[in-house]
Amino acid sequence: EDIKEIYHLACPASPKYYQKDDIYTLNTCYKGTENILNLALKKNSKVLLTSTSEIYGEPLEHPQNEEYRGNVNTFGPRSCYDEGKRVAESLMYAYKKIGIDIRIARIFNTYGPNMRINDGRVVTNFISQALSNQPITIYGDGSQTRSFCYVDNMVDGLIKLMDSDYDKPLNLGNPEETTIKELAEMIK
Ligand code: UDP
Repeated sequence: EDIKEIYHLACPASPKYYQKDDIYTLNTCYKGTENILNLALKKNSKVLLTSTSEIYGEPLEHPQNEEYRGNVNTFGPRSCYDEGKRVAESLMYAYKKIGIDIRIARIFNTYGPNMRINDGRVVTNFISQALSNQPITIYGDGSQTRSFCYVDNMVDGLIKLMDSDYDKPLNLGNPEETTIKELAEMIK
C-alpha cells in the first residue's frame, strides 16, 4: 500500500547528544535519509526532510537567506551534524532527479513543552536553572543570537510546506533574533 507523505525528522539535534557518537550521527543523517528515500520510491511518497540552520555553519551573513551557502567546516565539533544534514539535503535532490517529490525545511531553534530537562540546550538549561535557583550559565558574553520558534508554530509551518508545491530549501523559524543575555533575563 502507498504512503502519501513521510515527515523525516529523525536525528539527535542537541549538540550534547549528537556529539556523543559522531559516526552514529553521520550514519543517521546519510543512511537514515537514504532508507527513507528508498522507502518513498517503493511507496510513491512525498518526503519532507527537517534540515537545520546549522547547514550555514558559522555564517558570515546575518540573517541567512536560503541562497547563502554557508561558512562550513568538515572537522569541527559540530561537523557530524552540519555535514550530515548537508549530505542529507544533497541526497534529497539526488532522489528528486529520479522522481521523488521533496520538501526541505531548515529549522532554526524550536522550543515547547515536554523537552528533556537535561537536553543541554539553552532554553531547558536556563529554565531548569532558574527554577532551582542555580546560577544561569551564559556561555561567552551572551551577545550571540538565536531565533526561538514555538513548537506548534513550527509544526504548522512543516504541514504548510508539505502541502505546498515548494521544493527548494526553506528556512523555518522566528524572524526575530534574541541575544542569549536577553533570553536569560526573560527567563529569570
Ligand atoms: N548556551 C548558553 N548556555 C547554556 C546553553 C547554551 O549560553 O547553558 C548558548 C550557546 O553557547 C549558544 C546558544 O546558547 O550560543 C544556543 O545553544 P543551544 O545548544 O541551545 O543550540 P544551538 O547552538 O544548536 O543553536
